[in-house]
Amino acid sequence: MQLAIASGKGGVGKSTVTASLLYFLKDEYGLIAVDADAEAPNLGLLLGVDDWEEERDHIGAKVARIETGSCIKCGICMERCPYGCIYIDREGNYVVNELTCEGCNVCGLVCPVTGTITLEEVRSGVVRKATTRYGFPIISAQLDVGRPESGKLVTEEKEWAKRVMEELNLEHMIVDSAAGIGCQVIASLGGADAAILIAEPTPASLSDVQRAYRVVQHFREPAYLIVNKADINPGFTGLVDWAEREGIPILGEVPYDGAIPRSMSLLKPIVEAFPESDASKALKEIAERIKEEILG
Ligand code: SF4
Ligand code: SF4
Repeated sequence: MQLAIASGKGGVGKSTVTASLLYFLKDEYGLIAVDADAEAPNLGLLLGVDDWEEERDHIGAKVARIETGSCIKCGICMERCPYGCIYIDREGNYVVNELTCEGCNVCGLVCPVTGTITLEEVRSGVVRKATTRYGFPIISAQLDVGRPESGKLVTEEKEWAKRVMEELNLEHMIVDSAAGIGCQVIASLGGADAAILIAEPTPASLSDVQRAYRVVQHFREPAYLIVNKADINPGFTGLVDWAEREGIPILGEVPYDGAIPRSMSLLKPIVEAFPESDASKALKEIAERIKEEILG
């Protein structure tokens, strides 16, 4: 089974909750974790990964390069680049800013000197594998600065995870999505068997989780909700009201707990660092419900 954990809004504790659920589920199931936040991966840190056992470059993005020797300095490429990526350097040469180039090839099409502008494939980032402190594997990715294709990186992560599942005969893939509803989140939710949404009771989190839910609906996946920091805004009932209106089962509520930032500073899931904390007890109950209602 493939379970995707998403939130819409960042900062609601998605990776903290994911690491804790993995901790509780690892003894009962063969698991693989996928950190699908290629722009800011940190699930590996919480799961005790110091070194990556295997790393693979993701090649796929293209950038334009200008051959200075044959360039006649007409300036047409700079005028026509839709992203303003071409500039003149101190030596008076036309140069492409590789960090902002989208590889659209408009410059190559308008250049009057054939072969002066070419598109070259470049690395977008790296996909990597490790074994966590708890014995189950994790696949992660890291996007290079300024590179597009974060969604393709996540797709590559999930493909690699599927191969590892087959090799090791694992049962479930738990995907920790990025915030937002962009390419990475779409790649995380696409193909999942169920989605767990994590939100806090604030208007901003409600608005963002509703957007994430629309992506879940697009893929026609069953959705569940975990309310994190459930007691930070007692007068706000909008989140629970919305879940009830949509028929989204609430797996549980996790209270705000000062032990969470302390566990993060120790680079451990809170349920391992402070098992007697209120948040840990709530997360344990939620893990039990996930076993009963989703994983079986
Ligand atoms: S490939 Fe497109 S984005 Fe890149 S420099 Fe050429 S016109 Fe600009
Ligand atoms: S369009 Fe071609 S020839 Fe003209 S400045 Fe650009 S690279 Fe040089």
